[in-house]
Order: sequence, then C-alpha cells, then structure tokens
Amino acid sequence: MGHTVPPVNQHPFLAGGGTMGELIRNFSWDETLIGDPSGWPPSLKNSVSIMLHSPFPMHITWGGEFLQLYNDAYRPILGTSKHPRALGIPIYESFPEIWDTVGPMFYGVMKGTPVRMKDFKVFLDRKGYMEECYFDFAYSPILDELGEIRGVLTNVLETTDKVKAFVELENTREELRASEFHVIQQRDRLMEFFMDSPAGICILDGPDLRFTMVNPLYQQFFPGRELIGKTVIEAIPEISNDRIIDILDQVLKTGKTYHGIDELIPMSKRYDGAVEDRFFDLTYQARFDEKMAVSGIMVFAIEVTERKREEIRKNEFIEIVSHELKTPLTSLTAIVQIAESKLQKGLSDSSFLIEAMSKAGSQLKRMSAMIGGFLNVSRLESAQIHLGKTIFDFTQLVIDAMDELQLSSSGHQLEMDCRDVHMLEADREKMISVVTNLMANAVKYSPEGGKIIMDCSKKENELIFSVKDSGIGILPEDTERIFERYYRVSSSVTKNISGFGIGLYLSAQIVKLHGGRIWVDSKRGVGSVFSVSLPLSH
Ligand code: ADP
Repeated sequence: MGHTVPPVNQHPFLAGGGTMGELIRNFSWDETLIGDPSGWPPSLKNSVSIMLHSPFPMHITWGGEFLQLYNDAYRPILGTSKHPRALGIPIYESFPEIWDTVGPMFYGVMKGTPVRMKDFKVFLDRKGYMEECYFDFAYSPILDELGEIRGVLTNVLETTDKVKAFVELENTREELRASEFHVIQQRDRLMEFFMDSPAGICILDGPDLRFTMVNPLYQQFFPGRELIGKTVIEAIPEISNDRIIDILDQVLKTGKTYHGIDELIPMSKRYDGAVEDRFFDLTYQARFDEKMAVSGIMVFAIEVTERKREEIRKNEFIEIVSHELKTPLTSLTAIVQIAESKLQKGLSDSSFLIEAMSKAGSQLKRMSAMIGGFLNVSRLESAQIHLGKTIFDFTQLVIDAMDELQLSSSGHQLEMDCRDVHMLEADREKMISVVTNLMANAVKYSPEGGKIIMDCSKKENELIFSVKDSGIGILPEDTERIFERYYRVSSSVTKNISGFGIGLYLSAQIVKLHGGRIWVDSKRGVGSVFSVSLPLSH
C-alpha cells in the first residue's frame, strides 16, 4: 500500500502541491475547455499529479488551446505580472511576447516533435518591463490512453543568473586581458625607451654598486666588457682610484643627484685596453627603497670625447695660428724698423729698400694666404662657400700651380706625368687651392731632393688627379682622420713640421662640393699617393 496524501476535495489526485495545488483544486475547470477534473483523461490526471508533487519547475498545456497548469516551482518564471492569471488560460495569452518563437515549437510538439533547448534566450515581460532571460527547457507531448497527443509538458530551469554571471565573467576576463595588454604595452614602451635612449643608462644596485641593468648605448661605452652582476670597481678597475668613485660614494651617502658636464674619466674601452682620457656629460641619480634609504644609483651618460677632443684640437690650432702669424709679423716689424732707421739716417741705398719691400711683400702674402685659409674654414662651417664654375683645362691648371710651387721649393723635383688636355667644369680658384695644397703637402712631408709626381687621367666619366711623393707616409689608422678638421698626425717627425691641420679638410670639402672623392694610399716610410676624382660633364 502506497502512502496517500489526505484528500482535500473530491479529487484525490489533486492533493498536495502547495499554493498551486490549492489554486488548481479551487479553479472552476468546468468553465474551460478542459472541463471538470472528474472528467479528465487519466494521462492528464497523472501528469498534473506528478507536476504538483515535483519540486522542479513544470508546466502543462492541455488541448489545442494550450490551457495552462503549473506548479509552485514554476511560479517565479511567470513573475509578478503573469501569475496567477495564467492558470487555465491559453499560453499565448500569457506569453504573447514570445509566442512567435515558442508557438511553432508547441505546434510541433502536438505533432510529435519534442523540443530540448539550452540557455535559450527570450525577452519576457513578467515584472512590468522587458527582461532578457535564459532557460534550459524540454517540451514533451502528453498522450492520452488512445495514444493521441493532447498536451505539452514543459520541464524548465531558468538559467538567466548563470548566463549573466558567465557573461559578466567573460567581460571581466576580457577587461583583464585588455588591462594586461595595456600593462604589457606600457612595459614594452618603457623598455623601448630604455633600449633606444640616446643616453647611456645603467642601474647600479646596493652599497657596492653592482650593475643590474645596462642599455645598449651604455654597453657601447665598453665594447665586449661584461658588466651585469659586477660591481663598478670589478667591471671598470681602471677607475678604482679615480675621483669619479668618490662622487658615486657621495651620491650613495647623501642621496643627492650629481650632474657633471665634460667630466674627464681616464678609462679604457675594453678590459686591459689602453686607458685614455674620455669625457662624459653625466647624471648620477640616487634610487631609494620603500624606507627611503638610498638603494642604488641610476646613471645617465653621454660620451662627448670626440667633441671634447676636437675642442682641444681647436685650442691647439688657435695656439699654432697665433704662433705662425707671429713669425711673419716679427720679420715684418724688423724690416719696417730697419727701413725706418735707414730713412732717418738719410737713405741713399735704394736697393736695400727694394729687397726689404719684396721680403715684406712675401711675408704679407704668406699671412694673407694663411688668413684666407682660416676664412675658408669658417665659411665652409657656415655653408657660405659657393662654387663659381667655369670650363677650363685642368692639366694646364696643374702645370701652372706646379711651376709656381717649384719656385719656392727648389729642393724638390716636381714633375707632371700627363700632358693631355682635360677640360673640366669646376670652380677654378678652389681647384687651384686643392691642387696646390696636395703638392705643398707632398713637398712638406718628403725629404729634400725627393721627387713629386703629378698625374691626370680620365677613367670612365671621371677625371683622376694624383700627387705621389716618396716621403714619410701615413699609418693606416691616420689615413681617414687626416681629412678631419684640425687633425694632424703626431709623431716625432711631424712635430717639427708646421701646419694647421686644415689643408686636407678644406680640400676634401671642396672636392665633395664638386661631387668628387679624395683618398690616400700610403705606406709609412715609403710615401703617399693622394688622389682626387672629379666628375666630368658630358
Ligand atoms: P697640415 O699639413 O697643415 O698639418 P693638412 O690638413 O694639409 O694639414 O694635413 C693633415 C695631416 O696629414 C698633416 O698634419 C700630416 O700629418 C698628414 N699629411 C698630409 N699630407 C701628407 C703627405 N703627403 N705625407 C705624409 N703625411 C701627410
């Protein structure tokens, strides 16, 4: 014998079921198409009874009009606006807003096609507004005892909260991904800034100042040297006694930033390399830990050695210039003084005066040539040199310049190998200064009695002019640099030869302005060949 729920009215199968049980029992079913419960087919009675006792949300429609019955668990799905009106009326009157969607499914079930949906989205008006809702549900047919489909049973679980939580989670994940991307992007940017910084940057950590970060430019100060993980003294032992270490200590002690301009640090580029005077513009900035104690030093450094060296060369240059200008000035002063005293004594010897004036003239010429050279450097520097091009025979220009130079260089033998006419379009005056400069250097840097051979030839569309000497020659490391401004080779031989280091610089600039090239092939102790190529016009 099964347990019986005490009958509440004349229909024992409608017993129990909480609020909905009571509403169904008290409903006037005889006024509907379903009729009084006593006349219900057994399958409907069974279904309703199962439904009323189920803690799972269930809903039944009966007949072609889809009149509804549902249990307590189903009530929340109807919200406040559809319950309790929904009981006993057609489903399409309760759910007009979704009938377009679920209507066809109901008709389908009535024809024997059940429906199963997961997280199915609908917009329901059950609380006075349209609400996005999700449901897992199954529609299944209810057959009567003759096997005819008479109703639809709905088992349904609302999943709105689950879906919304999931969407929320996805959004949060998406936001997280976005912010993670942002963080990575920021980090990459900072890294890029660090890597591409035009200043050398490194971080020295701890009281013994260990390299923990070094950007590429900083590493370039010390090619091939291992820095990371080493202390400053270990990595750069040659500065261990230098004042720069005291400065670093001071920053560690006081936390005060140090700025140095043109700071001289005697340092080598590589381990065991030659220590050289190097110059840096630098900032040492203390780093602090969370307790505001100095934890290390951030170094920003820009090497200015080249600029500083050029400055030193320039100062040397000014010194030499002053010195060189003083020599002709002294002899001019002497000539003028002697001439004056001779004149005061009532001069009769005009031949002396003629010679004195000619000497004075050549000293003045030397001085104005020198000054002209310096002027050209400053004009070049401010891009004020303009080319006044004409067409002339370059070979003849070389011969004339050579003959002129031969007058003052009787100790050397100047020769021209080629006598072919080479017409060139160029600035004639400037070409004279290039040619003269190369020939004068050949004289200057080769011993008395030496032969200097000039040559002109045409190669493809270029005119090649060369000056060959058998002089002191040039070391490979100097061959590029001699074309730099103020650059002079320093050796025991050259230190006694006066010069300013601007002749080749000027020549190279003039040749470049003409679209040509200048270079040297040389061997120390054997001699040099300086060559110039100039484009020929068609
Ligand atoms: P300067 O001769 O006034 O010093 P330059 O610019 O003409 O200046 O030359 C630069 C340097 O190149 C010279 O100081 C010298 O050391 C080197 N040099 C130039 N020409 C020759 C040469 N023909 N042979 C050897 N060294 C040379």
